[in-house]
Amino acid sequence: MKTVYADNAATTALSPEAFEAMVTCLKDDYGNASSLHHLGQKAAAEVAKARREIAECLGAEAGEIYFTSGGTEADNWAITNAARLGMKKGKTHIISTSFEHHAVLHTLQKLEKEGFEVTYLDVHSDGYVRIDELEKAITDKTCLVTIMYANNEIGTIQPIEEIGKLCKEKGVTFHTDAVQAVGHLPINVKEQNIDMLSFSAHKFHGPKGIGALYCRKGIPLMGFMQGGAQERNKRPGTTNTPAIVATAAALKKCCADMDKNIAYVSSLRDKLIDSIVELIPRTRVNGGRDKRLPGNVSFCFEGIEGESLLLHLDLKGICGSSGSACTSGSLDPSHVLLALGLPHEIAHGSLRLSLCEYNTEDDIDYIIEELPKIVSMLRDMSPVWEKIMKGEN
Ligand SMILES: *Cc1c(COP(=O)(O)O)cnc(C)c1O
Repeated sequence: MKTVYADNAATTALSPEAFEAMVTCLKDDYGNASSLHHLGQKAAAEVAKARREIAECLGAEAGEIYFTSGGTEADNWAITNAARLGMKKGKTHIISTSFEHHAVLHTLQKLEKEGFEVTYLDVHSDGYVRIDELEKAITDKTCLVTIMYANNEIGTIQPIEEIGKLCKEKGVTFHTDAVQAVGHLPINVKEQNIDMLSFSAHKFHGPKGIGALYCRKGIPLMGFMQGGAQERNKRPGTTNTPAIVATAAALKKCCADMDKNIAYVSSLRDKLIDSIVELIPRTRVNGGRDKRLPGNVSFCFEGIEGESLLLHLDLKGICGSSGSACTSGSLDPSHVLLALGLPHEIAHGSLRLSLCEYNTEDDIDYIIEELPKIVSMLRDMSPVWEKIMKGEN
């Protein structure tokens, strides 16, 4: 059976470049990067080179990159660190949004239990924060603004540069969960005034279980685990050399091809959205159409259930998602769609298709052929749809 992989926001296939780098390292450069012998030093040199290359892709300095186990750890670390620094100065207010990833939201909820006050900015029905609302929310107690670069479910890209500028003026630390953006959008942490940024390799064709926190020099960064002296004494644990060199290889490739990929993937996205909106009545596109991740397609189809839709798509070899992989398994609709103000019954009928540069025109044509048939079959069996149709008549 044909497989069309359209779940790149959940994870991506490893790139050939990352695979090569990783295998070579696993075979030949197996020394512990903290060991003093030549094999250890070879591994350490590979890691140093990878760190420089990654920093360069982000407009950062090598010494500002700290490897972690992924995006979740980087988010936890950045937010907890900023909160601890704030606490020391009596600043216990944090600003975020209502549609962050759970790695951010659950960290904030934990801090709320510890006495922090968190303002969750409205993202409106189009999925964007408003800069004047952010400005109004900042007080002299605010120690951190944490706003995601681009949303993982609906793909909306936030006004990061303006947020960075405002936070700099107000003297507030700005962290962004850029897991969906790194490797897909041009980023320069200095020009955009980003103080801290989290990313994860498996979202840009690198391996799983590796990511990093960029922390601007000058911001005191405290470790949150006890152990060895790796990552300049901030993040203990034996250096994951194969994953780190593969991350650099994957990111370098994405950055080299960025303009080409953005143009190509956006054209696939637009063709898919335009065709489905035309072919399937009562379809809602979630999130604004411009300032949207090149690969993100997010729909709600009235009168059907996202889960059954996914199962039927999978039977045709199409891999999609009903929101985020992290919330599937729970029956509640996605907090992201609810944050847009969608009613529960509509949020339940959601479908996210996330594309990448490995997708072909054929993939898109296949989805355009199969998806309307499945939606119409499910609607024919749906009592909810029947009611909707009767209401119309
Ligand atoms: C995938 C994702 C994460 C989590 O990253 P992991 O490396 O899987 O822990 C965090 N934030 C966003 C926006 C994501 O898409």
